[in-house]
Amino acid sequence: MNSKQIEVLENYITEHKLKITKQRRAILNAFIECENHVSVEELYGIVSEQEPKIGLATIYRTLALLTKSGLALEMDFGDGQKRYESSYMNAHHDHMVCTECGKIIEFNHPLIEKYQEEIAIQNGFKITSHKLDLFGHCNDCL
Ligand SMILES: [Zn+2]
Ligand SMILES: [Zn+2]
Repeated sequence: MNSKQIEVLENYITEHKLKITKQRRAILNAFIECENHVSVEELYGIVSEQEPKIGLATIYRTLALLTKSGLALEMDFGDGQKRYESSYMNAHHDHMVCTECGKIIEFNHPLIEKYQEEIAIQNGFKITSHKLDLFGHCNDCL
């Protein structure tokens, strides 16, 4: 059990007068345990093994809930499906996406982060979050 994340979700759910259900818990657990950048369909495949009665719509709604409560980050790499990764205690990183095989490489460069801040300051802009996705071909596909 990932009790910290369950706690975050339960707090959010109570604050918003929603219900913590067995299905929501199962989805959260599967989400935490699966690989980063999971698509809705992939997560559905994992969850429905334990909870066969779960519907795709419930997965969609729960992922939206996880995103709002700060446990998940939603990303769109332009392949027609949204992907999600855990954002709880997960350090910020950017992504390189192979447009051939769909491989996703995570990276973080302190200078990129620093220059973004500098550009923002020059423009009197306050960054609250950012996404940097680089598209191209990975080593295997070149
Ligand atoms: Zn590739
Ligand atoms: Zn990532």
